[in-house]
Amino acid sequence: MNTDAHKTEPGVVVINNGSETLQPLSLAQVQQCLASLIVPIDQTEQVPLANSYKRVLAEAVVSPIAVPSHNNSAMDGYACRFADLQNDKTSELTVIGSAFAGRPFIGALPAGTALRIMTGAVLPPELDTVVVQERCTVDGNLVHIPPGQTCGQHVRMAGEDLAHGALALPAGRWLQAADIGLLASLGLLDVRLRRRPKVAVFSTGDELLQGGQTLNAGQIFDSNRLTILSLLRELGIEADDLGIVPDQPAALRDVLQRANCYDVMLSSGGVSVGEADFTRSLLSELGEIVFSTLAIRPGRPLAFGRIGNCYYFGLPGNPVAVMVTYLFVVRDAIARVMGAVLPPVISVQALCDSQIAKRPGRTEYQRAIAARAADGRLTVRLTGQQGSGVLSSMSQANCMIVLAPEQGTVAAGQTVQIVLFEGLL
Ligand code: AMP
Ligand code: MG
Repeated sequence: MNTDAHKTEPGVVVINNGSETLQPLSLAQVQQCLASLIVPIDQTEQVPLANSYKRVLAEAVVSPIAVPSHNNSAMDGYACRFADLQNDKTSELTVIGSAFAGRPFIGALPAGTALRIMTGAVLPPELDTVVVQERCTVDGNLVHIPPGQTCGQHVRMAGEDLAHGALALPAGRWLQAADIGLLASLGLLDVRLRRRPKVAVFSTGDELLQGGQTLNAGQIFDSNRLTILSLLRELGIEADDLGIVPDQPAALRDVLQRANCYDVMLSSGGVSVGEADFTRSLLSELGEIVFSTLAIRPGRPLAFGRIGNCYYFGLPGNPVAVMVTYLFVVRDAIARVMGAVLPPVISVQALCDSQIAKRPGRTEYQRAIAARAADGRLTVRLTGQQGSGVLSSMSQANCMIVLAPEQGTVAAGQTVQIVLFEGLL
């Protein structure tokens, strides 16, 4: 891998330059490292627009037409020439026809005439103004229009949404509902997208059982795999589920050897410095390990490496640490593999209702619930138990309080930064 990295032992690259030890890396260092190492998928394919939701545009789309393609009415009413209207008294015009959306008026429109017009109907070139029907009175084929109208009102101009030849969407766009509608409004049937990443997910641990089995002493149900598979869906990825892998080097080797079928592999568990933690050593043997400890909490152990062309993320075992490392590190990294430009994660300030103990030196995340107080201010309270294995407090949360490395203990009533989950999971 091309880094200004410092090699210590075979397969282990420490990217915090010059240091001989595996010091935890700051979030910023890790993000920078991932940004420099990950190469986006460059294969592309032509895909029906209808199947392109949450996929990534491989090239910019330039509008082949003007949208709308004709001047048209924004309201139901009467179209006229502004020059025919009196500015101090009611004007009387002769209605000589109608225009409906999709059914333009065809015929002459001499001075002093008006057209009954519906929303979306083409505005003939002779006319420039639409008066909403509620303002008009009609008497046979005459329409009475009060003074006080403005030239050009209630008219949508050709090309006001997109001009012919204008950039509709840039390359790298991660297509959302409005984007798909926009591309449909250009008359496109299909679009050139980057190939989807092939992603696999597995869990590691001798204690793990599938739902439906009976727990014996010391066993737990595997939750991480379904959490990760669900988080990936939010990015538009249907990953392969490789199941539970026991803490045995041979089993782990077998599953890691499947890396050549994937662009990304994600596992959970077995990356901390415990007895059963073979992941790191196997990764060094089969590929390269780039980093494995982060100065964040929860989520300190996080292995990142590469096996052939597959990027590997070894997430921690604790369920909340899985979600934190995914949301704040891995999600962006996978987006980079996809070649996607994700909308930025927005953090906002909120008043914290209680004290949060913290040591400076690492980024800390606390599960919390944000709400508007009666006085309109955004407040935030912790969801209780913050242990990194406690998933119920994650499930109750609607946001995460993010405490920066330099920050110490937060006093009750102090302002903190929060990231709302809406749109993230
Ligand atoms: P580890 O990093 O493998 O030492 O795991 C740390 C903690 O997370 C242990 O309490 C594990 O039992 C738990 N854990 C690991 N994997 C999972 C999983 N897939 N689902 C739920 N808990 C897990
Ligand atoms: Mg384990």
